[in-house]
Amino acid sequence: MKNSDAVWAFVEAKREAFFTLSDRVWDVPETNYEEFSACEEHARLLKQEGFRIERNVAGLPTAVMGEAGEGGPVIAILGEFDALPGLSQEAGIAEERPLISGGNGHGCGHNLLGSGSMMAAAAVKDFLAANGLKGRVRYYGCPAEEGGSSKGFMVRAGVFDDVDIAISWHPAAFSGVNNPISLACNELNFHFSGRASHASATPHLGRSALDAVELMNVGVNYMREHMPSSARVHYAVTDAGGAAPNVVQARATVRYLIRARTLGELLGLVERVKKIADGAALMTETTVRSEVVSGDANLVGNTPLEECMHANLQRLGPPDFDVADNDTALKFQGTFSPEDIAASYARFGIKPKKGQALCDLIYPLGSGDGSIVGSTDVGTVSWVVPTVQMRGATYAIGTPGHSWQLVAQGKLPAAHKGMEYAAKVMASTALDLIANPALIEAAKADHRERLDGNPFVNPIPDDVSPPLPESPNGR
Ligand SMILES: [Zn+2]
Repeated sequence: MKNSDAVWAFVEAKREAFFTLSDRVWDVPETNYEEFSACEEHARLLKQEGFRIERNVAGLPTAVMGEAGEGGPVIAILGEFDALPGLSQEAGIAEERPLISGGNGHGCGHNLLGSGSMMAAAAVKDFLAANGLKGRVRYYGCPAEEGGSSKGFMVRAGVFDDVDIAISWHPAAFSGVNNPISLACNELNFHFSGRASHASATPHLGRSALDAVELMNVGVNYMREHMPSSARVHYAVTDAGGAAPNVVQARATVRYLIRARTLGELLGLVERVKKIADGAALMTETTVRSEVVSGDANLVGNTPLEECMHANLQRLGPPDFDVADNDTALKFQGTFSPEDIAASYARFGIKPKKGQALCDLIYPLGSGDGSIVGSTDVGTVSWVVPTVQMRGATYAIGTPGHSWQLVAQGKLPAAHKGMEYAAKVMASTALDLIANPALIEAAKADHRERLDGNPFVNPIPDDVSPPLPESPNGR
């Protein structure tokens, strides 16, 4: 046992408070910069734990930060607490049963994510104090991960500028170091303006914004053959200009979500899509205005940090799920397709074990393929701070992401165990770093090398504001 592993007992001592925090956040699922109650719950526990608190981080009303310790390096542990729309679901039952029709639900396990990260930070704080060690630990409670890119706005505001290392995790089916592959993405609105006219009497006087949207989509679809095969382009017509076919539509808006493996590739692709929009405007004698809504950079890996975290995972061993946990997970597996379960195993190159519904191993470093990838705003942080993330098993193998089954498993004993497990690994990783300045230097050197020739450009431009709702008091 290493010295830093003594922190695991500090994590265990915090079970009750942090399981309760996670459950309370699960009970009031809030989305996209409206996480007022989740943020309040996090701030309250930070205060109770004696952290120095900063509210309204980067001007985001639902972002909160707590710092503890003095001197030494600054280790950030990142948390999230936002939910998803349309996933309301009763806890603990393997049957689709919404609590509120059309309501929100924690379909990505962020109730566990935020609580587990703060649990790690609180244990590190107590360990530093108990051992008279120098070092600062910060918990960043970040809102709106699901499409809101809050960490991109936080990076832009410079809130990570003095951070040495960032650590995070995500609830998952398997446990291990996160293979740092994600797509850089940008979401943009293209607003076309034309001229309204009677579509039958005076069509020659009208200039259709909807025609422009359609031509833009055709143009982008032709671009697909000539873009990297790993890139993704999705679109939705968010304003077709009205419901009347006998009017030439004077306005229309299409929203594009563009994704690519690297930031450089993404920025190039966005420029090409903008040119196609200009072309569509030219063809239809309309005008177009584009605006960025959100954006994430791709994840930058870090070998020294990944090796350090993997060593911690191995020393701790997999979470100790019991027979009752596995039996419950088996009931959930009964609601998945065999393809869901097989695909989940295949991603990590692990052979399925009959009757085993919860992960009982640590997958090898570097596994977890990159073929099924989305985007995360942790990516943007990883360009400005050396960053490492893990996955901690909290739910049945094969659980589809953003599903009612994932929501339903969010308060189970297995979820709490997986969360405590992740908190332990993150805490001992943080303490390894604090105890070993050479390791921090190695992580920084690795980071510099990866960025050499790839300057960071925040995919959220300076003039874009976060899509904040009104404050709860103002409503
Ligand atoms: Zn998530």
